[in-house]
Amino acid sequence: MATTGKSKTKETSPSKTVKVYKGWCKRCGICVAFCPRQALETDKDGYPSLKDPRGCDGCGWCELMCPDFAIVVEDAKS
Ligand code: SF4
Ligand code: SF4
Repeated sequence: MATTGKSKTKETSPSKTVKVYKGWCKRCGICVAFCPRQALETDKDGYPSLKDPRGCDGCGWCELMCPDFAIVVEDAKS
């Protein structure tokens, strides 16, 4: 069947996830603030955490913005 071409939302990559290295993370919140999809939240200890993997499109912006190399975007399957 033909597709409608009426995609309302941007295609996401649920196969992507983020890994936070807590030993390096200073809990500044920059990655949470700058995630263009608001996919990150701050957990109870102040560390960034992925709210919903489907919200993350794997853009890598959080990884780029982190001044401490403490967050990495990676394949969820690995
Ligand atoms: S930007 Fe880096 S140091 Fe700051 S909260 Fe995010 S992961 Fe932690
Ligand atoms: S990879 Fe992009 S969408 Fe996913 S958490 Fe990081 S900044 Fe947000």
